[in-house]
Amino acid sequence: MMSGPFGVGLTLEDDRQALFILRHHRRFPPTSHALVEQVSKRILILTSTAREPMDDGLVFFHGREDSSFSAMTTTPAFANLTLVRHPLVQHKMTLLRDRRTPTKIFKELVDEIAMLMAYEATSELSLDPVTVQTPLEQATGFQVSGKKLTLVPILRAGLGMVEGILRLVPSARVGHIGLYRDHDTLEPVDYYFKVPSDAAERDFFLLDPMLATGGSAVSAVSSLKRAGGVRIRFLCLVAAPEGVRRLGKAHPDVPVYAAALDRELNSQGYILPGLGDAGDRLFGTR
Ligand code: URA
Repeated sequence: MMSGPFGVGLTLEDDRQALFILRHHRRFPPTSHALVEQVSKRILILTSTAREPMDDGLVFFHGREDSSFSAMTTTPAFANLTLVRHPLVQHKMTLLRDRRTPTKIFKELVDEIAMLMAYEATSELSLDPVTVQTPLEQATGFQVSGKKLTLVPILRAGLGMVEGILRLVPSARVGHIGLYRDHDTLEPVDYYFKVPSDAAERDFFLLDPMLATGGSAVSAVSSLKRAGGVRIRFLCLVAAPEGVRRLGKAHPDVPVYAAALDRELNSQGYILPGLGDAGDRLFGTR
């Protein structure tokens, strides 16, 4: 017997009967009215159930930390983090994680996910009202205020996220930060930095597919702030709790956008379950 908040109770046999009757009568027989009503109520129940928050596997936590996370996009434990939960992002992320995904597809997926994430991350850009003349009359519209958005990929894996975001915001400027992770200390070593000179007046999207230890992210944000940057968002595909915490502690003013918050780091600083070395998978240097 199934029952729901609307007081409908039907056995499985009743279900089959209902389907049989509806399939074999072009015009509903008189007794079918009650059934039709019950079926629509059932659809209502399914709809309301589908809307209930579920643990959808976006968060690969260890221990007991996941208790309240799944229903929210941000949480007191990670107040700086927004998870982009869009079904297309999650579908593409799963393909991205798959070790069998070839370089060409991997690159296309990073590009597409970055674009979808940028849609979310640009949702709070401020607007100025403007007037336009339609073919019929004058209308009030909006345009993004201030100087052009600036994308700053952290070399080299961050490069994979640039083109997708540029398709969404073609006027964006692109700076670059060159950092690599010392394999022994796991600490970032920087070798290149170039962003527009009027950094204080711009919104920055710092890009790196993987927020692992947080060392590179903290260092890149510090460099950007030294250059005058004040409005900085960090966009990654996969984040480790360690990295989100470290970035949040060092730069609490920097919102982090991620498509997934994974379980943990391994002893080499790789994210688990993760997707492997994003740079190698993007550029085929495995
Ligand atoms: N960088 C990567 O490319 N992958 C990880 O898992 C961690 C850092």
